[in-house]
Amino acid sequence: MRKQIVAGNWKMNNDLAMTESLITELKKRIKTSEAEMMIAPAFTNLWHAFEALRQSDIEVVAQNMHFAESGAYTGEVSADMLKSIGIQTVILGHSERRAYFHETDELLAKKVNTALKNKMRVIFCFGEELADRKSNNHEAVVKNQVTNALFHLDADAFKNIVLAYEPVWAIGTGETASPEQAQDMHAFIRKTLVSKYGQQVANSVSILYGGSVKPNNAQEIFSKPDVDGGLIGGAALNAEDFMAIVNAF
Ligand code: PEP
Repeated sequence: MRKQIVAGNWKMNNDLAMTESLITELKKRIKTSEAEMMIAPAFTNLWHAFEALRQSDIEVVAQNMHFAESGAYTGEVSADMLKSIGIQTVILGHSERRAYFHETDELLAKKVNTALKNKMRVIFCFGEELADRKSNNHEAVVKNQVTNALFHLDADAFKNIVLAYEPVWAIGTGETASPEQAQDMHAFIRKTLVSKYGQQVANSVSILYGGSVKPNNAQEIFSKPDVDGGLIGGAALNAEDFMAIVNAF
């Protein structure tokens, strides 16, 4: 049985006071859920969030990290730093990191290696742009992203990898992939995993969908057989909406 996961990516939102109040609101609404819940606050608020959610069912995860173990990388944060405050999971390859910070598949492969070496779990994001979909290249683009950054790993590494398919044209735009488009791509990704690692590994990897998931569309998207949860941006900034999405399982 694959893990079902709903992860909220807060991006560069919420100062300390807002982090405290959103966590308070989330805690009021936590119910036992089939799905694992995660939130990814900004680096400055990770320790506070981790402490505030220590005894809860919500895992606090990081939005990014550097590939080096330590050193002269001004402004960056290492796996060891994250682990030292209790963070076990990191989001890598978000389309905003790829677009604004020029993160390439090669760089992401290094980050993935470092995270796994440090026994962290990775939520690995990828997805095509609108032009790729319009030119019917979306599967090839996604296959390349996944292959280039992950297919040097051995099968065992996939115990600590969660995939997040996020079509760039659906992130923060209010435009969602239809449940069928999401299912088709997730099935394609799983098939790609089968071809390299076999059915057993492919069946065990959770594939999340991200891109304008809201309380009113979550249930239909999550009902698809290869969709194992969601990576949520905008709607994760509102406790009621985030919990409604979690409860869509
Ligand atoms: C995201 O940034 O990962 C995301 C899916 O954002 P949104 O839900 O706002 O589209």
